[in-house]
Amino acid sequence: MIKIGILALQGAVIEHIQSLNKIEDILVVEVKRAEQLLEIDGLIIPGGESTAIGKLLREYNMMEPLKRLINSGLPVWGTCAGMILLAKAIVNDEEVYLDVLDVSVRRNAYGSQLDSFQSSAMIEKVAEHDIPLIFIRAPYIEKCGPDVEILLTLDGNIVAVEQDNILATSFHPELTEDLSFHKFFINKIKAFLGKSYAASL
Ligand code: GLN
Repeated sequence: MIKIGILALQGAVIEHIQSLNKIEDILVVEVKRAEQLLEIDGLIIPGGESTAIGKLLREYNMMEPLKRLINSGLPVWGTCAGMILLAKAIVNDEEVYLDVLDVSVRRNAYGSQLDSFQSSAMIEKVAEHDIPLIFIRAPYIEKCGPDVEILLTLDGNIVAVEQDNILATSFHPELTEDLSFHKFFINKIKAFLGKSYAASL
């Protein structure tokens, strides 16, 4: 059975678990220690506060092991703060965290007036219906490297991308009833299951 980890240091952890619990034949694990990274087939990095999650990743000595595992093929999906943590550059911040996704993101990109908003969009690769999108103090991507595939641009801003084993969304599918992105990520994990990556911390 596929084992999906949710990085459970801070942020919207429970919401992802609730979404995944509606899908059959998967096991969900809250990941709080580096050793647990070796027991999972894929990892979700939830929304929350990227500064807080980043600080805790360093404090618990998980940043480097996680980075190595992602670089060697562990499927990972970052939502909102998770996208910021995966990025190679943050336009309006000097910090870089996992440094694995070849994009420049802007934190809190929608400014205070559009702090939170909802929209919906058709993302052909992910589902055959409109997907509801919830943005909360969300980042968007300003620039992508050549290996990054853009899944969705909304009002001129890039808000969902894929790069090999990495998926990142500015919005929060776990706060909606729609399971398309969770199912999409599970299929991605299945596609990577056969490819063994060096499981070392
Ligand atoms: N604004 C948050 C950050 O910069 C992200 C918000 C979220 O994950 N909902 O980390």
